Amino acid sequence: MYEIFKHRWGFFMEKYYSTRNTNDRVSFSTGVTRGLSPDGGLYVPESFNNIDIYDEKYLKMSYQELAVDILSNFLDGYTKEEVTTFVSEAYGDNFETKDIVPVKTCDKVNFLELFRGPTLAFKDMALQILPKFMVAAARKEGITDEIVVLTATSGDTGKAALEGFANKEGIKIVVFFPTDGVSEVQRMQMVTQAGANTHVVAIKGNFDDAQTGVKEIFNDKEFNNLLKSNGKVFSSANSINIGRLVPQIVYYFHGYFDLVKKGQIKLGDKINVVVPTGNFGNILASYYGHKMGLPVNKFICASNVNNVLTDFLNTGIYDINRKFETTISPSMDILISSNLERFLESLSNKNDSLINDLMTSLKTTGKYELPTELKTKLSSFFGGYTTDSETESTIKRVYDKYNYVIDTHTAVAYKVYEDYVAKTGDSATPTLLSATASPFKFTRAVAESIIGSKQDDLNDFQLVDKLSEITGLEIPQGVYKLNEKEILHDTVIEVKDMKKLYLIS
Ligand SMILES: *Cc1c(COP(=O)(O)O)cnc(C)c1O
Repeated sequence: MYEIFKHRWGFFMEKYYSTRNTNDRVSFSTGVTRGLSPDGGLYVPESFNNIDIYDEKYLKMSYQELAVDILSNFLDGYTKEEVTTFVSEAYGDNFETKDIVPVKTCDKVNFLELFRGPTLAFKDMALQILPKFMVAAARKEGITDEIVVLTATSGDTGKAALEGFANKEGIKIVVFFPTDGVSEVQRMQMVTQAGANTHVVAIKGNFDDAQTGVKEIFNDKEFNNLLKSNGKVFSSANSINIGRLVPQIVYYFHGYFDLVKKGQIKLGDKINVVVPTGNFGNILASYYGHKMGLPVNKFICASNVNNVLTDFLNTGIYDINRKFETTISPSMDILISSNLERFLESLSNKNDSLINDLMTSLKTTGKYELPTELKTKLSSFFGGYTTDSETESTIKRVYDKYNYVIDTHTAVAYKVYEDYVAKTGDSATPTLLSATASPFKFTRAVAESIIGSKQDDLNDFQLVDKLSEITGLEIPQGVYKLNEKEILHDTVIEVKDMKKLYLIS
């Protein structure tokens, strides 16, 4: 009976499939607990419900109400009560501001402040709620094994995942970060993390090494079987997890309705969206929002000198055969943007065999080229990049002009937006810009940019105080007295040893 039921009605509950095999359909909870599809693909929604952008009810909603409305479209198999509980627990007093995502307007640019959560980066927007999805999903899936959440981080995901998953029942969280690739504040945030189920490991490599290592562990069948016989299964807190992506759609709608309320636009008017991009998760969320009815004129994808995406958007060729650069916007120091695969799925209209070809090509040659008919579809995107010195001068320029302090990632986005305006002449379209981190998270680069000179005699935490003094900004809770906390994690390993760690009891 159940089989028949499932056969006839299952498609209502199995709204997701793998980018590499459209026949592999799963529910949201399966997608969340697995993280990655067994074929190596990423789970994507099979369709997008429409949000009626002209419906004025949205203008009256709080962030939480809007989140429930939008997330309910994606959480097949969850009741409205469940979604409401997740949302109210995820977006509450743990955020600095009552409105969760405040918007700061500087002429046509509206900074969507996504960093008001506990770890001071936009990753909290998803990682405060993902653990709630996962605990409930494990119950729904009847999983009794311990879930080991593997996370590769360029700095911000790690802390946000630790914060979200610490002390969650039935879950162990393991974070890998590149030893020399994170800021001092980021490192201290992670290595001081409390919680018996938390593991923080530094690897001698860069973020791509960490991310590739994690993906390999996922795809190692034998190793997975070994783990399974020890009562453990893997999942992921990286943005390959569909449960990371959907909460990010909410804030683009929230920002849009905020602009309407501020009188900058009328319901239905188009806006530009600017996103400092690494793994392509955040910008993809805005694109998914667009598929649900968010009126977007241009998606502006900003990179640092690891500008693979800029080249891709300009040429249709994705090529990682280049030097990996370490920059002052480390959360974007990425050459392999995982979520681009989801974008390709959408561009190609679910062409899983094409995606398999492209991903094989990427794996074997480090490169792929889109077929001509898909290249033309890239025109709704604008790609640009900045150097570190441009990023620094942008921080200074924005501070001098607007008395507003932005972090290094947000500055990359702002500069690329300026380049976009210079190139296209589109200075009139109101624009939402993802402000992805607090300036206090990348204090050294921010303080030195504003002061205008190197501050080698001060450590990062003294610079936190100094930045606060100069700008009058209050030091956020997330960094306050962080340097006085006890270091609880000091493991450093070679990349090739990543696998061994899972055998930790
Ligand atoms: C993760 C991160 C990014 C990049 O976001 P993606 O979703 O990976 O493109 C940008 N800025 C900051 C501060 C981040 O933490």
